[in-house]
Amino acid sequence: MNAKFADTGARRYLIGDVEPFDQKNEMFCRPLWDAEMLDLGKKFYMTEVPPKDKPGYQLKDQSMVNAAWHLENTFAQGVAGGRMGMYAWDWEQIYEFPRVPPGLKIDSGNPRAVTNDIKKAAGFFGASLAGICELDRDWVYSAAFPLRDAKSVPNELPAEYRYAIAIAVEMDYDAIGCSPASPSSVATGLGYSKMAFVAGLLAHHIRGLGYKAIACGNDTACSIPIAIDAGLGELARNGLLITPEFGPRVRLAKVLTDLPLVPDKPIEFGVWDFCLRCEKCADKCPSKSISHGGPTGKPNNISNRKGVLRWPINAETCLEFWARNGTDCSNCIRSCPFNKPAGRLHDSVRWGIRKYPRLNPLFLWGDDLLGYGKKRKADNFWQD
Ligand code: SF4
Ligand code: SF4
Repeated sequence: MNAKFADTGARRYLIGDVEPFDQKNEMFCRPLWDAEMLDLGKKFYMTEVPPKDKPGYQLKDQSMVNAAWHLENTFAQGVAGGRMGMYAWDWEQIYEFPRVPPGLKIDSGNPRAVTNDIKKAAGFFGASLAGICELDRDWVYSAAFPLRDAKSVPNELPAEYRYAIAIAVEMDYDAIGCSPASPSSVATGLGYSKMAFVAGLLAHHIRGLGYKAIACGNDTACSIPIAIDAGLGELARNGLLITPEFGPRVRLAKVLTDLPLVPDKPIEFGVWDFCLRCEKCADKCPSKSISHGGPTGKPNNISNRKGVLRWPINAETCLEFWARNGTDCSNCIRSCPFNKPAGRLHDSVRWGIRKYPRLNPLFLWGDDLLGYGKKRKADNFWQD
């Protein structure tokens, strides 16, 4: 890929007209309406998972997972459709301190200064990364499917929401390293709760500035193309966003707003070329849901949007593994060479991948030699 491609943001991956994507085709929704997925839905959503006498699957592990998800599940429900609590669309002022008179609005005549302030606020509230883009309406779901109602509803996002602030929240490196045991699910759940916390507070701040803002988790629009447009990273073989700072070890939220902001430039730092050679996520996927070989425009099933050149994930077999495992999985994050924390060696390799893709086989060899991406013992989570 070259810089011209990167400039087109997430559209760089399109190989035809973009088909609208109805959220009901997303894998967490299909078990609630797709006859072929109903049994999987019963296993995934309705079966109690007794603790096991096995590190990473004990009661203390499961309880920690539940606790990590608590803010998302109780006060946001982005996975179940959003539009409530931290992700509410309609907001009523009940009591605020200090009691700012209503009707005030900041001067938005200098969007660059406003953008800097918004990014400062996002970082202060806890965003690990924040980027801005003009909202591409093709990434907004053509219809929403809140799990709590189990039916499609219109997803009419008013035209004035012209900008998106993409937010990435880093997940814990060591906990993700224990995947597919529960410590990685603790990191995931905490990521979801932090998404709601950060995006919800940022949206509320923008409302306080006199503008409209909607905070979203997985609801309302696809987060990955928005994050690509906002310059946070690139699409990878594992179907995830790879960021230069944390690789795929992030969770994504967004705030949609009418506040005029200055968009960031999309980026390209060698992920596509590296994924063409590296197949570690595919090798380590316990359900073989990630493909080897080259990218394709052919979807696996209705959970993949048509017209996108990529390595489409088979979300059906992935969710089936989660149901069997009794918790979710992050092997495709754990095993990715881009996952590593910052440090002199890791930063130099990332620089090398960007500048000298011909050396990618060498970087991969070094990754294997040093034993990166192997599963950590789940017990270590409690002992570190
Ligand atoms: S989450 Fe696990 S099962 Fe699903 S694609 Fe990633 S590695 Fe495979
Ligand atoms: S593990 Fe390798 S192939 Fe998979 S996403 Fe990461 S870099 Fe790409």
